[in-house]
Amino acid sequence: MAVEEARDIDIVIFDKTGTLTRGEFGVVEEIVAENWTNERAMALTSAIEADSEHSIALALRNEADSRNLELPEVTDFKALKGRGVQAVADSRKVYVGGPRLLEMLEIRPTDAMMEFGERNEKSGRSVVYLILEEVAAAAYALADVVRPESKIAVRELQKMGIEVAMLTGDSRDVAESVAKELKIQQYFAEVLPQDKDTKVSDLQSEGLRVAMVGDGVNDAPALTRADVGIAIGSGTDVAVESADVVLVKNDPRDVVRVISLSKASYRKMVENLVWATGYNIIAIPLAAGLLAPFGILLSPAVGALLMSLSTVIVALNAQTLRRVNLGEV
Ligand code: ADP
Ligand code: MG
Repeated sequence: MAVEEARDIDIVIFDKTGTLTRGEFGVVEEIVAENWTNERAMALTSAIEADSEHSIALALRNEADSRNLELPEVTDFKALKGRGVQAVADSRKVYVGGPRLLEMLEIRPTDAMMEFGERNEKSGRSVVYLILEEVAAAAYALADVVRPESKIAVRELQKMGIEVAMLTGDSRDVAESVAKELKIQQYFAEVLPQDKDTKVSDLQSEGLRVAMVGDGVNDAPALTRADVGIAIGSGTDVAVESADVVLVKNDPRDVVRVISLSKASYRKMVENLVWATGYNIIAIPLAAGLLAPFGILLSPAVGALLMSLSTVIVALNAQTLRRVNLGEV
């Protein structure tokens, strides 16, 4: 059982977007190439993102909405997992995506855009580019916020002697900035969705017992691969299906609670076994007359009394678990 396995986890890997962060982006800065206006670039970007479920797409659509932009028509929408999206506008291929998209298309943005990207990523903002005919036409910096509960969860896990790592499809600079803020030493950046579960199995082959925490967006296979998969983030359907444990509130501190509860349940199980067998070890031989030569013999009545007493003790002992469950960690 997953909760039982959670007790001897060596490392907890958190997905970044939507798990350690809220996954609610806002557009905070933009830059467009020559011959482009902010309006035209944003309208095209939003149109390309129309069918994407990614939180970055939602932010870009909201931004275009709030500017009352009229969107051009696009067709042939396709999601490029972990990289961005592509579509066709005016019979031309258009893309919106992050660093792994630029790498795939072998595109180098202008110096001004590169500077824009580096500066924003260093301060933890995700940067995506609008690409038209092999050229970067615009770049957007999107800010997400780290959940305040994440910091507490990371610290508590580290105090328990459990390693904490972060996994993300986002750029190295963004990952470093978020990891620093949360005091996470180990992080893996620019990991494509299909490689997230490989990271989990790499750690498992080092002999570590791995818990993976994610929101199911691009990390469902990793949740399945982990010894304990924990879904967060109002549970996307995939996350609920792939995970062993679903946290109904979007609170990373509940990861600490699951592990503490599992350790406590195990302790109780051992204690209960001792109580229950203790009765048998001591009372049965007594009842059988083992100490009869020394004048000690358990009458059937006392034996029965002890028997129910041991059940009461086991029940009471299990009850104390409630305090662990409800208490703050
Ligand atoms: P994480 O691993 O942090 O949860 P994802 O794997 O969901 O992130 O996405 C990784 C990166 O892929 C994003 O940071 C972004 O650069 C790019 N990306 C994914 N989907 C989109 C999209 N719909 N529009 C633009 N960029 C996207
Ligand atoms: Mg994610």
